[in-house]
Amino acid sequence: MSQARFASCIPLPIEQKNLVNVIEKARDWALMHGVAMRDKKHFNKDVIQVAPFVLLPSPFPRTEFEKAVELQPILNELMHKVAHNDEFLELTLQNALQVDEFTKSLYDIWVKVRNEGITQSVNLGLFRSDYLMHNEEQNKIKQVEFNTVASSFGAITSYLPTMSRYILRQLGHPDLIKNMPENKALSGLCSGITDAYDLFGVPCAVVLFVVEEVSYNICDQRFHEFEIAEKRPDIMIHRKTLNEIFEETILNDKKQLILDGLPVAVVYYRSGYEPAQYPSQREWDARLRVERSTAIKCPSIHYQLAGTKKVQQALAGPGVLEKFMGSGATTNRVRDIFTGLYSLDFDENGERAVEMGLKDAERFVLKPQREGGGNNVYGADIREALQRMRHSRERAAYILMERIVPPLVPGYVIRPGATVPPPVVDLVSELGIFGVIIGTKEKVYHNRQVGHMLRTKLADANEGGVAAGLGALDSPYLV
Ligand code: ADP
Ligand code: MG
Ligand code: MG
Repeated sequence: MSQARFASCIPLPIEQKNLVNVIEKARDWALMHGVAMRDKKHFNKDVIQVAPFVLLPSPFPRTEFEKAVELQPILNELMHKVAHNDEFLELTLQNALQVDEFTKSLYDIWVKVRNEGITQSVNLGLFRSDYLMHNEEQNKIKQVEFNTVASSFGAITSYLPTMSRYILRQLGHPDLIKNMPENKALSGLCSGITDAYDLFGVPCAVVLFVVEEVSYNICDQRFHEFEIAEKRPDIMIHRKTLNEIFEETILNDKKQLILDGLPVAVVYYRSGYEPAQYPSQREWDARLRVERSTAIKCPSIHYQLAGTKKVQQALAGPGVLEKFMGSGATTNRVRDIFTGLYSLDFDENGERAVEMGLKDAERFVLKPQREGGGNNVYGADIREALQRMRHSRERAAYILMERIVPPLVPGYVIRPGATVPPPVVDLVSELGIFGVIIGTKEKVYHNRQVGHMLRTKLADANEGGVAAGLGALDSPYLV
């Protein structure tokens, strides 16, 4: 398949001496502004190193960028409605639940807290909708997925455009800076947390971040904390693992989640989205305790369920969007960002999808109900996986998605530790738009788009997770 190409924002390559010089400036800028992560291989809590980043901002069509920005509040509301439609969630997930233990555990908590009676009807969503441009459709954006839990890189990428502007000036192109959109993702996401805190309305209540045993992506979590501490010195933030929450919190008779004697107003999950983060029953018990409590959860468990790939696939089915949004121009705009999404359930449609995947594996991506990157199946492995699962119920835990083929962009990827300047390579970019929603089933209090992130990877890599070491942080240069 031949891929279209975009030109870089300035002519490449950059002359060698100039390149060495400007990379050094960029690396130091990045490190000193927290565009950084902890090293997985040689972990040391006191050491951070630059996160992989792209030296120059990557071109992105202005119309497509603006479309994604405009659609965000619409998608926020759609997902909010989906999360509050018990019947739809049950119907959509029922087959996957029989074979996917992790999703089942989340779902069982949801059913349990529903049956006991919801103690906190307000939900907080800090969402991120991800897009790739699709070559075959005039480089229009297509949705890769919609993240409802632990959507990351809002903080680090808020600083990145400032670095790109600095670099463009250093390279003698100050005139280009006007093409880089403002990014206020960090303050926007934090305003979601503080707005939810104010709705909780209990003086002295605290905010709880649920974190991993080791946070490699520490800058992208601490910046939220620092931002809130600066703007709202009245709010105390704690960081706890699920295991620590099990040990250190209780529910009082008012179902408040109590930590160190104080009620928790908002629980913000930066962990808890993948099976490895629940190594024992204690973590599941902690999750249940939080869900039972009056704390406002980001996300509450039905938001997390609404963010599954299975739900994404179901929403693309005939008439489904109309059920949530009615018919009209807005619904058509949303449908337009969907690409082919196919169920692998044990029925006629599922059989057809299996056939398609076997025949044309390269045209698809096979996805399980997982988050965090590195879980999908590509190319010839799809054929193998489908052959293996063909007569097994296991396949219902996957969806088949049309493969999006984005245009190529040339650029320099700067990686931690590299000593020689990198060559110009072909890259592809994935745009993420952040959204905040706060509301109950009946009433939405806040709903806004708050910023963006761009993640760029080598054109021939299947996935581009930055935390996984494959992708690089980037900023859009609108063309
Ligand atoms: P996760 O929740 O694990 O991030 P994603 O659906 O975002 O799952 O898939 C991970 C990565 O795989 C994406 O960031 C993208 O690089 C690639 N990918 C996913 N779906 C597609 C697709 N339909 N076409 C091309 N690449 C895809
Ligand atoms: Mg995801
Ligand atoms: Mg993703």
